[in-house]
Amino acid sequence: MGPAWLLNIALLAVTVLAMEAGAWAVHRYVMHGWGWGWHRSHHERREGLFERNDLYGLLFAMISLLLFLVLPALWPPLWWVAAGTLVYGLLYTLLHDGLVHRRLPFVKPPRRGYLKRLVQAHRLHHATRGREGAVSFGFLYAPPVARLRGVLRARSGS
Ligand SMILES: [Zn+2]
Ligand SMILES: [Zn+2]
Repeated sequence: MGPAWLLNIALLAVTVLAMEAGAWAVHRYVMHGWGWGWHRSHHERREGLFERNDLYGLLFAMISLLLFLVLPALWPPLWWVAAGTLVYGLLYTLLHDGLVHRRLPFVKPPRRGYLKRLVQAHRLHHATRGREGAVSFGFLYAPPVARLRGVLRARSGS
């Protein structure tokens, strides 16, 4: 295992972290902003198997696929950047759709630890009605639940 291997893993890891930062910003400023038209369905009760918000997942999956075609042609190690976007997509599906929203029957709800905090934090994201005033926009990182409750309490003015 030479330095090439280290570079590949670094590219993968940095991409996954950058994706979480990017997804936070997209969720905060696009999905709860001008992109609310698609995201609203995710903050309402779902009728049937799919919701309009799933179009975001589909769109980002297509962008990830496109990166696999484009990036390695520019410079072969960039394949690992494309792989990072795929890994992030899988983690998002597993944690957000599977763990939090119970859409994957084989994913069991966590009883303790960080994953429980992740589930509770995202439940608090869904605690507010409409697109304004929500907390916790990340999908892999969740702030401490007590802190989020404090923010929500302060915003509701009680
Ligand atoms: Zn949201
Ligand atoms: Zn959600």
